[in-house]
Amino acid sequence: MAEFVIAPAPVPVVPVEGETAGFPVRRILCVGRNYAAHRREMGGDDRDPPFFFTKPADAVVPPGRDPAYPSRTANLHHEIELVVAIGMQGRDVAVGDALGLVYGYAVGVDLTRRDLQNAAKDKGQPWDASKGFDDSAPISAIRRWQGPAPQGRIAIAVNGAIRQDGVVSDMIWNVAEIVSEASKLWALAPGDLIYTGTPEGVGPLVRGDRVEGEIEGVGSLSFTVT
Ligand code: MN
Repeated sequence: MAEFVIAPAPVPVVPVEGETAGFPVRRILCVGRNYAAHRREMGGDDRDPPFFFTKPADAVVPPGRDPAYPSRTANLHHEIELVVAIGMQGRDVAVGDALGLVYGYAVGVDLTRRDLQNAAKDKGQPWDASKGFDDSAPISAIRRWQGPAPQGRIAIAVNGAIRQDGVVSDMIWNVAEIVSEASKLWALAPGDLIYTGTPEGVGPLVRGDRVEGEIEGVGSLSFTVT
C-alpha cells in the first residue's frame, strides 16, 4: 500500500563509521544481567540465566543528539553496553555460525528508570516503562566488524569521574551465544540491535551530567542529559 492515512514515522538511523549511508534500526533487544558482578549488585544470583527485554527502535539516540531526562523517575541510571548490529537474517542459528550475522559493533547506554524497574520487580510487572522509554538507548556510530567479537575495556565516566570500568570478556554469555540464543526467540533481521548487558558500577544521572563511554577497539560516545 503506497499511501497512509497518517504520515509514517521516520526510520531511526545510526551512522556507520566511514560510510555516508546509515544503519536503519529495526528492533532493539537487550540482555539483562550478563556480567556476574553487576548481577550481584542487582540482587541476582550467578546461577540465574541471562534473559532478554526490548526497547522500541525509536529509543535510539544517535551521536550528536542529547537524551532528555525522562518523566516519572527520580533515579535514572546509566548502563554502558557493547551493542551488536545485525546485518543478516537468522533463525535458530548455531553458536558457531552466529558471528556471521554481525554487521558491526557500537557503544551503547541502556538508560534505566531504576525506581520504576525496582517497583516492577517487586510487583512482578513488565519492565517496559523502566527500560523502553523515549531516548533510552544512546548509541555511538557503528563500526563495521568481521571476525572475533570485541573483548577489551568497557568504561563510562560522568562529569569526568569513572563510574563503570570493566572488560567485555567478563560477559557471562559472549556475543556468539547471545546472537544464537536471540535467534531462537526471534527471527533476527538486518537492522536489529542487541545491547549485551552492563558491568558493575551502575549509578544515577541528573540533568546536566556529561556522559562519556568507551569500548576498546569499538569507539566512544558522549552526551549531556538535558
Ligand atoms: Mn542493561
